[in-house]
Amino acid sequence: MKILVINAGSSSLKYQLIDINREEVMAKGLCERIGINGSRLKHKPNHSEGVTIEKSMQDHAEAIRMVIDALRDERHGVIKDMSEISAVGHRVVHGGEYFSESVLIDHRVKEAIDACSSLAPLHNPPNLTGIKACEEAMPGVPMVAVFDTAFHQTMPPQAYLYALPYEMYEKHRVRKYGFHGTSHKYVTQRAAVLMNKPIEELKIITCHLGNGSSVAAVKSGISIDTSMGFTPLAGVVMGTRTGLIDPAIVTYLMETENMSIKEINNLLNKKSGVLGISGISSDFRDIDDAADEGNERAQLALDIFAYSIRQYIGKYMTTMGGIDAVVFTAGIGENNSRMRAHIVKGLEFLGIKIDAEKNAVRGQELDISTPDATVSTLVIPTNEEFMIALDTKRIVNK
Ligand code: ADP
Repeated sequence: MKILVINAGSSSLKYQLIDINREEVMAKGLCERIGINGSRLKHKPNHSEGVTIEKSMQDHAEAIRMVIDALRDERHGVIKDMSEISAVGHRVVHGGEYFSESVLIDHRVKEAIDACSSLAPLHNPPNLTGIKACEEAMPGVPMVAVFDTAFHQTMPPQAYLYALPYEMYEKHRVRKYGFHGTSHKYVTQRAAVLMNKPIEELKIITCHLGNGSSVAAVKSGISIDTSMGFTPLAGVVMGTRTGLIDPAIVTYLMETENMSIKEINNLLNKKSGVLGISGISSDFRDIDDAADEGNERAQLALDIFAYSIRQYIGKYMTTMGGIDAVVFTAGIGENNSRMRAHIVKGLEFLGIKIDAEKNAVRGQELDISTPDATVSTLVIPTNEEFMIALDTKRIVNK
């Protein structure tokens, strides 16, 4: 069964064609600058050279048609005919309170995705455009929406409600939603396989650490709390986002610095986090290098980031009443052994102990804990596209 996975942004469209039965990526690629001058398609078949095709793409429908042409091209294609594609799985950022599961797309689902646009104005509209473009280019092919928020819809009200007047929730649906759900779900399932235990018996803390970072408490395979909130700005310190701060800082800075809503949003989302503290970069490789050269603010940024993740590990242990595993995933979690060691430093008393040699691993699944650790520390590369393809298969076969 071949499934096309689509991640549509405002001017870009990422895709992977996955043979889900063989668990193999057949081809992947990216359309860039859709609707802008200089648009191009980068296409990479699994077993041969990649190509870049420079061609105008007026809109997402045209981009999808180019993707399909590339997939069945004589030279760099991987299928003979479009009919080989059994289904399409779409990444959708926000499902609000409508979706706690992936879902087969029909007109009501599209209406609900549209209704969630006010909660994710930068993401949901292009996600919906991608869906409509695919429907146009591939009529009759079943399409499934997989939401970043869905996995966290199992959180209890005590975890997802803010202590604002209750009407703010009733009127505006202001509550914690959480994000990166597809990734947290995937690594939890892999953790259970690696630990060779039924997922129902496990309490797992998943740390998705990339440019955007979030930590989740997953008990018996179900998300019961997560660090991101109403928006992806909340929770742990990130590359350029503040994470949790005192909300009074927002109005204070707007007043004292005479900032507009746009300016304060930009400050909180784009200029803060480890970039803001270090003054160097949002990329941990640059910050590591600077800290090695003795830059104190770079070291401070690393310390603050590690401290912020470590605190969530402690917090979620109490949330779940224990812990069996900590999982590290995404760019930093998968590759940055120094940061992993930094985060768990001092947690030995909880049974979290990592082996320095095993911790040297990069980008591969491994249990990096010492033999006497009572909690497994696991490195698990995330694979959101594969999870989307798996969900799509499950929903289509229902
Ligand atoms: P995004 O959230 O945009 O998908 P990533 O998951 O790629 O971002 O995470 C970006 C972070 O991961 C950067 O700070 C970078 O330092 C780190 N990172 C990504 N790849 C590597 C690598 N191969 N080695 C070390 N660090 C990496």
